[in-house]
Amino acid sequence: MKRKRSTYKSKKSTGKALTITLLLTGLLMTAIVVWIGMNDWDVSKTLRQVDIGKTEEPLPEQQEIEPEDVDETETPEEEREAEEETPPVEEEPVEEEPPAKVEETEKKSEQQTAPEKPAKVEEKPKVTNQPQTSPNKSGYIEGQKLPDEPTYINGILIANKKYPLPSTYAPGENKEAREAFEEMAAEAKLSGFNLTAFSTYRSFEYQTSLYNRYVSRDGVEKADRYSARPGYSEHQTGLAFDIGEVNYEKYWASNKFGETEAGKWVAANAYRYGFILRYPNGKEEITGYMHESWHFRYLGKEIAEEIFKRNITLEEYLGIE
Ligand SMILES: [Zn+2]
Repeated sequence: MKRKRSTYKSKKSTGKALTITLLLTGLLMTAIVVWIGMNDWDVSKTLRQVDIGKTEEPLPEQQEIEPEDVDETETPEEEREAEEETPPVEEEPVEEEPPAKVEETEKKSEQQTAPEKPAKVEEKPKVTNQPQTSPNKSGYIEGQKLPDEPTYINGILIANKKYPLPSTYAPGENKEAREAFEEMAAEAKLSGFNLTAFSTYRSFEYQTSLYNRYVSRDGVEKADRYSARPGYSEHQTGLAFDIGEVNYEKYWASNKFGETEAGKWVAANAYRYGFILRYPNGKEEITGYMHESWHFRYLGKEIAEEIFKRNITLEEYLGIE
């Protein structure tokens, strides 16, 4: 009897354990179902959470991006230095529409989302024609033949003593440059200055006669300092504008223009319309020409502003000084 009872007892306790196990299993199953349900039935997400033991958080890398961004916008100097190291890549030729402002903002947002782009190794500017040898005293390369095609550096048309134009290059006055000039002239008028562009596009043939006249008057060495040899004049690009004041012909093509109020206004404001003072004071070694307070080159607003604010020449901007 005692034995029987104990058998009964053990049978009873086994039954109890089974019930508890079943209950616990049921509870566990419910918990799992609820847990998966809380994660939108995404089993892999659930498992990942179980694995990591925490909810998904942005990677620390992404969190660190922000302060860098703030730095960049707060220190334009650094930005400028960085730009100096990496010459601009593939810009539209000046004759074409200047890049819309939208592009600029696109670029900015790119920088914000991917500021960790690898630092570019200093790239050589894309030059379509290379000068052949070293220049003479006047900055020309003696015996250099005029090329068959004009030279573009990073998409910008260049014409100087090292990079001549083909004798057949005859684009005429640039339309966009003319429009920009008219816009500038209209605003200058509001300040009381009546501006005119007294010389813009010059054909190869016209430059030939002009240069020859100067040489016969002043000699080659002197003429080379203020007038371009045929094929080397920026005026042949149609993008160079000699600016003066109506009724003040005495200051045209004279550095006295730079001392007039009108000349000062143009020097300070031309970049806002896409023009740069092409041959600034003290940069004769780089540009090949003495200071010309009247000669402006159209480059479009964006580039002109950068060159003006960095106080550099086009040659320095293009990395060919
Ligand atoms: Zn000029």
